[in-house]
Amino acid sequence: MQADIENRIQSEIAARRDDLISLTQDLIRIPTLNPPGRNYHEICVYLAERLGRAGFKVDLIRAEGALGDSIAHPRWNLVARAVGTGAGDCVHFNSHHDVVAVGHGWTRDPFGAKIEDGRIYGRGACDMKGGLAASVIAAEAFMAACPDYRGAIEISATADEESGGFGGVAYLAEKGWFDPERVQHVIIPEPLHKDRICLGHRGVWWAEIETKGRIAHGSMPFLGDCAVRHMGAVLAEMEATLFPLLATKRTDMPVIPEGAKQSTLNVNAIHGGESEQDEDYTGLPAPCVPDRCRITIDRRFLIEEDLAEVKREMSAMLERVKAARPTFDYEVRDLFEVQPTMTEKEAPIVKSTAAAIEKVLGREAAFVVSPGTYDQKHIDRIGRLKNCIAYGPGVLDLAHQPDEWVGIGDMEDSAKVMALVLAELLAP
Ligand SMILES: [Zn+2]
Repeated sequence: MQADIENRIQSEIAARRDDLISLTQDLIRIPTLNPPGRNYHEICVYLAERLGRAGFKVDLIRAEGALGDSIAHPRWNLVARAVGTGAGDCVHFNSHHDVVAVGHGWTRDPFGAKIEDGRIYGRGACDMKGGLAASVIAAEAFMAACPDYRGAIEISATADEESGGFGGVAYLAEKGWFDPERVQHVIIPEPLHKDRICLGHRGVWWAEIETKGRIAHGSMPFLGDCAVRHMGAVLAEMEATLFPLLATKRTDMPVIPEGAKQSTLNVNAIHGGESEQDEDYTGLPAPCVPDRCRITIDRRFLIEEDLAEVKREMSAMLERVKAARPTFDYEVRDLFEVQPTMTEKEAPIVKSTAAAIEKVLGREAAFVVSPGTYDQKHIDRIGRLKNCIAYGPGVLDLAHQPDEWVGIGDMEDSAKVMALVLAELLAP
C-alpha cells in the first residue's frame, strides 16, 4: 500500500515538472522587495488563485499595525488549508514571500527568471520562492496520489522574514494560526539543501553600547572628555579578553558552517562625534570633542549559554574598562533578542523527513543548525509549536548574492521528499 502511494507520488511529481518551473518563474517575476515591502498583495492573490483551484480554502491576512505595516506597504500574508477525509494531523509548509534588495554584480535580469543549464536565476530563486513552489507542487501531487488522505495540509506565504518576520509569521502566531491545536507539523522550505534537515538556530542578542564624554573645543581637548577614545578602550579590551573567551565556547549543536560552532560577536556599526555630512557637502567638519560614541553589537549565542550570562559577560568587560579609566561612563541598550532553538531529533517531523530523504536520494539525511535565525523562532516562541524544521531546495550560500539561482532537479527532489512526508503523516 505504502509502496503504491510512493510510486504514484513519484509519477505525479514527474508529470508536474513544467508546472513547477513556470510556478517558480511566476513567483520570481513578482518583485516582492523588502524593504520596503513591494507587491505583497499581488503575490498573495496569485497564490490564492492557484491554491483555490487546487481545492484549498484560502485566507489573506494583513498584519495590521505590525512593525512595518503601512497604507503604502501593507503586510499581506496568505494561509491556505486543504482538509482530508477524516480526522488527523495538520502538516504546514511555511515560506516567506519577501526577497532582499538586488544589489550589484548581476549578469542576468534579477526578475527575469531565466533558465540556463537546469537552473532558474533571479532574486529570491533559492531564498525562497523555489522552496515555496516545491511545497505547492508536493501538496498538489500528494493530494492527487492520495485523495483519501486524513487531516489537513496548509501552505502559507508570509511577509517580512528578511526583516524579522513581525508582519508575517510573528503576527500569524500571535493570532493563533500556529496554535498546536490546529497545526502539528511545520516545514519551512528555506534553502538548506535537499539532503539536510535544519533543526533550529543559535540565539541572538543585539545591543547598543554607548560611551559618554563631554563636548569641548577640539583645540583644547583637555577641557572635554573624548567618548571616541573611551570606545577605543572598549574595543581594545574586547580584542584582548572577550573575543578569545568566545572562541573557547563551543557547541554540541550541529551548526554550519564550522566557524559558527562557537559563540560569535560582530560590531555591526560604530559612530562617534559629528554626524557625517551629505555627499554634496563641500565644507569642513567643525572641531569638537565627541561627547557620545556608540557601537551596535551582534552577539550570537549557543544553546549551552544563558542570555543573562551573555549580558553579564559584556558588562564585566565594560566594568574592567571602567576600573582602568577614571572618567569612563557607559550605557547598554538592548535592541533585539532571540533564544536559540533546536527541535529534537526524535520529533515526528524530523523522523519522517529523514526517512523520506533516504528514500528519494538514497543517502542518509544530514542534521544541521543555522548560524542565524529565521521564522522558526516565532513558531517556537509565540506559537509554542516545537515540531518544526527547515527543509528545502537550494544552496544557502547563494541567498542574498548576485545571480542567485535554484536547481530544477533539486526542487523536484525536495518536492518528492515533502510529498513523501505528507504520505507518511497523512495517508490512511
Ligand atoms: Zn529565507
